[in-house]
Amino acid sequence: MVRQPAQAFARAELRERNRRVVVNLVQQSGPVSRATIARVTRLAKPTVSLIVDELASEGVLREIGVGEASHSGGRRPVLFDFNQQSHHVLAVHIGVEITTVVLADAIGIEVAQAEVVTPHESPETMLASVAEAAGRLFSKHSVNRRSVTAIGVCVPALVDPVAGVLVLAPNLGWRNVNIREGLRAINDSAAIYVHNVAQAVLAAEYTEGAAQKWPNAVLLYEDSGVGAALMVDGSIFHGVQGFAGEIGHCKLPGAEEPCNCGARGCLETLVSASAVLRRAGHRPVHDGTLRHQLRALAQSDDPRVNRLLREVGSELGTAASWLVNLVNPDAVIISGGFLDAGEHLFDGFVGSLRDHALPEAGATLNIERSALGGTAPIRGATLLALQASQQSVRSVWGPSRPSLPASDQLVEPAHVLSSR
Ligand SMILES: [Zn+2]
Repeated sequence: MVRQPAQAFARAELRERNRRVVVNLVQQSGPVSRATIARVTRLAKPTVSLIVDELASEGVLREIGVGEASHSGGRRPVLFDFNQQSHHVLAVHIGVEITTVVLADAIGIEVAQAEVVTPHESPETMLASVAEAAGRLFSKHSVNRRSVTAIGVCVPALVDPVAGVLVLAPNLGWRNVNIREGLRAINDSAAIYVHNVAQAVLAAEYTEGAAQKWPNAVLLYEDSGVGAALMVDGSIFHGVQGFAGEIGHCKLPGAEEPCNCGARGCLETLVSASAVLRRAGHRPVHDGTLRHQLRALAQSDDPRVNRLLREVGSELGTAASWLVNLVNPDAVIISGGFLDAGEHLFDGFVGSLRDHALPEAGATLNIERSALGGTAPIRGATLLALQASQQSVRSVWGPSRPSLPASDQLVEPAHVLSSR
């Protein structure tokens, strides 16, 4: 009998799902035996044996010895662990000034990193320089580019995460750049996901930084421009098109400076690093050292500069109070270049946020600095790639993440086996 295509598709999907369940279990709880995998996943023993043999022959799992025999005696079971060298992920943070590319192993541990000054000539030049930097990392560390299963990219831009398209990057001057297509040259079989940088930073802070305790959080991020990200019940809130969080382009009454987005009086024309340097009477130099210029200004300890930094912090705090009243988060986290602006900006920010938010919404509010600092964007991009690669059951990326059938959530091994 000829099998119907729909049935064949369903079988292939089921097989793939079972493989993911086994890989997730071994990754989170290994080393484990075939019998333990069968018991925890509730998959049939012959199915588990088949999957484990297949994954071992592909190099995804590796035998690491034998465990204790069971109480009833019998043969000691062979134990399997996840082989973190079985494949790689690539993370890319395109900053306004510096672009960082990280090659990481199958569990997200960094193997190597490259930094290049972000070329502003054209998006094509930028994409070519990312591909070149990745190529150098592959050669230097003898990594086959075909072993890269996923690429995570974060950019300071409005991003359509479903299409992988940068829609508008005011501070780079680019519109409608298909980053997913542009990076296919690195490895056309890799999954490529693109996100807004503030959203990536918040996902990183939630997974391994300052927001770990807070599934409802607001984050403010500065990198030449200013953006925000919102996390609601442990998932990034994207909005209909993926553009949620663009507080930097909200207009402030009385502000008239022209903004790179084409409007006037946007928040970022007052509080971005360039704006702060300008307001202090300096000429910001865009040569990759903007953060150092801001830090030097903050450390000058000039009373006039300190007053200005408090004022900037206060303006930012007012804007953040609107988000607090709208979202009612557990925490507000300040990140990116704001960390370089020192205590005076932070104090002005906290004071103004507390003054302007509804007392009821502000009473339990935690106000924190980023714990991951300058590494947050590239960690966010790494986690995005890792999630695309593993298609893990736990997600912070919300609906635009690689889609999984709901049935994948039947088994969550980390909760079943927690004794590691
Ligand atoms: Zn603007």
